[in-house]
Amino acid sequence: MSDCLFCSIVAGEIPANVVLRTDEFVAFTDIDPQAPVHTLVIPIEHHESAASMAQANPELAGRLLATTEQVARAAGIDDYRLVFNTGAGAGQSVFHAHGHVLGGRAMTWPPG
Ligand code: AMP
Ligand code: ZN
Repeated sequence: MSDCLFCSIVAGEIPANVVLRTDEFVAFTDIDPQAPVHTLVIPIEHHESAASMAQANPELAGRLLATTEQVARAAGIDDYRLVFNTGAGAGQSVFHAHGHVLGGRAMTWPPG
């Protein structure tokens, strides 16, 4: 999608600190990190949200989940929080499916 920020990052039109790229996913550092490790994992294929990706292509959604584990290991952490904000009311601001991989500090719950 031409007007999608994360599609532009996938295409290399907007720079990002890419930490992992496969034929299906790109992972890059969040521009406004909320933890020492804060990486976004996105499918190259455009879907509006994690939920719509899971409906349209459940196998891709499953592989994205597996990729978050790889991203955490590459960042040197075992424990992490995985967040999929779904809908503006839940804080989603970019409408291209993405998982936040957050870690590198004690992740308290509920989040403060
Ligand atoms: P969400 O609010 O769940 O939709 O998450 C969107 C995330 O994208 C936020 O945590 C932003 O800090 C992050 N973000 C926005 N623009 C960029 C960018 N150009 N590069 C990296 N991360 C970004
Ligand atoms: Zn997109």
